Amino acid sequence: MALREIVVIPAEVLRKKAHKVSNFSKELVALVDDMFDTLRNAPGVGLAAPQIDISERIIVVEYAEEEGEKPQSFAVINPEIVKTSTETEFGIEGCLSIPKIVGEVERFSAIQVKGFNKFGKPIKIKASGWLARIFQHEIDHLDGILFTDRATRIWQPSQEETAELPE
Ligand code: ZN
Repeated sequence: MALREIVVIPAEVLRKKAHKVSNFSKELVALVDDMFDTLRNAPGVGLAAPQIDISERIIVVEYAEEEGEKPQSFAVINPEIVKTSTETEFGIEGCLSIPKIVGEVERFSAIQVKGFNKFGKPIKIKASGWLARIFQHEIDHLDGILFTDRATRIWQPSQEETAELPE
């Protein structure tokens, strides 16, 4: 396991459509573990492979609903949003690849994500609220979309505001 370097804008890789993973190898398992290490070290709640300069469709999410609660961890390979709620909500997001900026972004309130775990087993995840927001933010990264593209407002936050934001 190892930490990977997080790339920041204007790195080109952040604007590319990432490739589908077709080979579920030992290297992929190691890469996912590195992504969790890198995410925890940042710290953040989500990380997409393009953020560590790897243009492949891989995301990791680790998020605790309540402070002090054990976080839920997800690694999804080739994630796809297969269902969305009709409701949307606004929330404040940040990104490890866009330092010192946050923005208000409208996202679906609930989604279903389909994909594979790091061993190639098909998985389906239902997420709502903040978790749904994190998944939408990370899956956008795989298509070269950054939260600043979707934000209705962007600003430099105070220290309190940076406390908990999707990355
Ligand atoms: Zn991000």
